[in-house]
Amino acid sequence: MKPVIALVGRPNVGKSTLFNRLTSSRDAIVADFAGLTRDRHYGNGRQGRREYIVIDTGGFEPDAGEGSIYREMAKQTRQAVAESDVVIFVVDARGGISAQDHEIGQYLRRLGKPTILVANKAEGMTQGLQLVEFYELGLGEVIPVSGAHGQGIRTMLDLALEAI
Ligand code: GDP
Ligand code: MG
Repeated sequence: MKPVIALVGRPNVGKSTLFNRLTSSRDAIVADFAGLTRDRHYGNGRQGRREYIVIDTGGFEPDAGEGSIYREMAKQTRQAVAESDVVIFVVDARGGISAQDHEIGQYLRRLGKPTILVANKAEGMTQGLQLVEFYELGLGEVIPVSGAHGQGIRTMLDLALEAI
C-alpha cells in the first residue's frame, strides 16, 4: 500500500502549488483566486523507490451555494484527513496566522494523526522570526517551504514519510 498524504489548510496558502511539486500529475488547478480548485484531487508521486499518493483539498462543488462553501471545504478536509496516513498542514508564512488556521490546527491536534506543519511562501525570508507565531498551533516544528520556488520540498516530504 502506498502511503497517502493529505494537504490541508485554508484557501490560497499554496496547497495546489505544493500538490504539483509533490506529484507528477497536473490535475489540480492552481488559481490566482482563493478557493478555485473545485475538487479533491489525487496525484501520484515518487521519491526514489518510494511511491506515495497526495490528496489536494480546498475546493467545493461548483453548484455549492454561497453559504455552503465553508461547510463543503470543512467536509473535504475531514474526508481527506480520514483517507490519509499523514497530514501536511499548510499555513501562509506571509499572510500570518488566522482564525481558520487555529480552527484547522485544533481539529488536527484533537485527531492525533501524524501532522507536519509547513509555512509556505517562505522564499527569501530570514528564517525563524516570522514563523514563530505558528508555534501557537501546538503542532510542533514549523517547516519553511516555498512551493512556487521549490524550496524545502524534500525536507517536508522526508518528514511526512518518516512520520507514518
Ligand atoms: P491553494 O488555494 O491553497 O490551493 O493555493 P494555490 O496553490 O492555488 O496558490 C494560491 C496563490 O499563492 C497563487 O497565486 C500562487 O501563485 C501563490 N503561491 C503558491 N505558492 C507560493 C509560494 O511558495 N510563494 C509565493 N510567493 N506565492 C505562492
Ligand atoms: Mg487549491
